Amino acid sequence: MHATRARTIALAGNPNSGKTSIFNALTGSHHKVGNYPGVTVEKREGVVEFQGEELHVVDLPGTYSLTAYSLDEVVARDFVLNEKPDIIVDILDSTNLERNLYLLLQLIELGLPVVAALNMTDEAAEKGIMIDHATLSKTLGLPMVPTVGSRGEGVDKLLEAAVFSMDRRTLPRMPSYGDDIEVHITKITELLASDAEFMANYSPRWIAIKLIEKDPDAQQRIQTHPRVGEIAAAQETAWHWIKLHYGKDAEIILSEQRYGYIHGAVAETMHRKKLRGISLTERIDRFVMHPLIGLPIFFFVIWGIFKFTFAIGNYPVVWLELLFGHLEGAVQLSGLPAIVQSLLINGIIHGVGGVLSFVPLIVILFFCISILEDTGYIARAAFLTDHFLHAIGLHGQSFMPLMLGFGCSVPAIMATRTLKSPKERIATIMAIPFISCGGKLPIYVLLAGTFFPKNASTVVMLMYAAGVVLSILSTYFLRRTVLRGQSMPFVMELPPYRMPTFKGVLWHVWEKTWSYARKAGTIIMAVSILMWVITTFPKAKGIDAYAAQARASLTSAQSSLDPALAEVQVSALVRQYQLEHSIAGSIGKFIEPVLAPIGFNWKIGVALLPGLSAKELVVSTLGVLYGAPVSEDDSSPSLRQSLREAPDWSPRIALALMIFIMVMPPCFASLATIRAEAGDKWLAFQVIYSLVLAWVIAFLVSMLARAFGM
Ligand code: GDP
Ligand code: MG
Repeated sequence: MHATRARTIALAGNPNSGKTSIFNALTGSHHKVGNYPGVTVEKREGVVEFQGEELHVVDLPGTYSLTAYSLDEVVARDFVLNEKPDIIVDILDSTNLERNLYLLLQLIELGLPVVAALNMTDEAAEKGIMIDHATLSKTLGLPMVPTVGSRGEGVDKLLEAAVFSMDRRTLPRMPSYGDDIEVHITKITELLASDAEFMANYSPRWIAIKLIEKDPDAQQRIQTHPRVGEIAAAQETAWHWIKLHYGKDAEIILSEQRYGYIHGAVAETMHRKKLRGISLTERIDRFVMHPLIGLPIFFFVIWGIFKFTFAIGNYPVVWLELLFGHLEGAVQLSGLPAIVQSLLINGIIHGVGGVLSFVPLIVILFFCISILEDTGYIARAAFLTDHFLHAIGLHGQSFMPLMLGFGCSVPAIMATRTLKSPKERIATIMAIPFISCGGKLPIYVLLAGTFFPKNASTVVMLMYAAGVVLSILSTYFLRRTVLRGQSMPFVMELPPYRMPTFKGVLWHVWEKTWSYARKAGTIIMAVSILMWVITTFPKAKGIDAYAAQARASLTSAQSSLDPALAEVQVSALVRQYQLEHSIAGSIGKFIEPVLAPIGFNWKIGVALLPGLSAKELVVSTLGVLYGAPVSEDDSSPSLRQSLREAPDWSPRIALALMIFIMVMPPCFASLATIRAEAGDKWLAFQVIYSLVLAWVIAFLVSMLARAFGM
């Protein structure tokens, strides 16, 4: 059990944090004072006994940081890198926690076990500073022991914690620099880790971070690495990327990220009775983080963004729709065979065009959100909603993804990447589809307007509210069943407010828009074609005879009918007949028994099918089925009228259908995103879970509505 060489404890900390006091309390009189080799920096070494084992204790020079610029820092850092102590004990001055944690984060990154002493707790208490050390310890992912070094209080516990971590070689959790920067760190870390010898000597993550900061000492240390060229290239890329994106040098940005991380950790765990000097950030935060007006400000900001997005975004949306209209016209004049025209128009232009016409909205929405994100406001919004989200087993970080769900689930699901806890991330992904996305709005508008004309806007609003309530209940349920698990305390970064750079914002917008547009071009295109195939084939038998008969009966019934209008009605009837006899019609009839208890007929079953590819398509399919001229215009009066007159429809059915569509699995693009982000298992879960839930809730609503005589 006893190693041949005594195990080493290295004491680190800011100057005057009480290292020497703790060193003395540990080692008593068994110590000697010398110099670090080659330099005039004092080196204090001693011995402490713990359960019969003699441990070597070294008091490192006091430093604020671990750059390669000051002698003390180089000595402290070299000692850790070259001597590899078995544990680092960081002595923190509790009266100055944020500044002291800055060094701790850097010690953590060196890749050795670390425990921390919250020293000067007596002075902190006098100054009205209260630190919840248990939560802080969980948050930062390493043991923390309160001490009073000058009186030796807590030093025994500190030693115990140090030996415990040393025995198990437990490493603290690494602070994150945010996904954007982590990508670069990971890239360089992987390159560094490809050499076994290098791995044995260094923590590649630490070297990677130092390389991004252009630390000369780290650059020196990689010269012997076999892939030094590639590493240097990756380092340059990272440095320039950060410069472009944030407009500042990497070293400054990484340091700001650390302070943001610390600020987040401290804000959750430290309370002080008196405020210190106020920075601009703190002054702004007094308003936007105010317990009473913070949330109203936030909702106002979000409301403003949605308002702005739709006000500005409607112009390009209309232009795009015009463009697709022209495309449609061009296809009609092209002289291509009718079946190809039908594929191009009904399959591709309607399906893909419908999704692409949302792109301007997405661009503007993401432009606004990127600005908020880059200034640091989104981090605050997460903080504000943290308390409420805790109650349902999530964290403030889930807030933004859920918000984005009102626009489109695809970017919302992708936005969960910022969540650190895997279970909370899955729970958030599972909740997002219940939030009513933009695609569901046309359905609500059509059905509420048709069957609840007096209260249409209230009904639409209630549908939105119902979606939010359902996502809350579902999350609460999932976090207590399949996704049960302790909420992991973690740091929400509260970086200082920054001016966003134009290039940085454009970059974000481009990334997000492109991934949305790409989905429209791939999966939605494929599904639209598939939907076209199953609604068009097989060609109904006797369709020509049916058309002729329809034409004859129409003209004989109303001899005064305008022939052009008659032709429109005939072709609507023919489309309806064709759809009934297509594959989709057969599927609709096949699933009718399952939907019958809710009150849905086979036509509704058919309309729900394309709803899987994009919710907007439910409206146009209903249009085909109920004989309205095909148009993307959801307010088309003739569709409303024929729905109202149809014997198999009623307000009850409309309500149940809205609910069903709200709960049913999201569109294919979202499902593809869920699969990419959460895997096949959760994709299957989402589909089954939301199908079952949709059926049950729609059934209950339908029964209730009947009981109330709707
Ligand atoms: P070092 O520079 O990090 O080695 O810190 P020292 O051990 O020299 O301590 C600096 C000063 O703080 C000394 O006057 C200590 O007596 C005092 N000190 C150390 N620990 C504590 C503590 O927990 N509480 C209080 N009130 N004073 C402390
Ligand atoms: Mg000292």
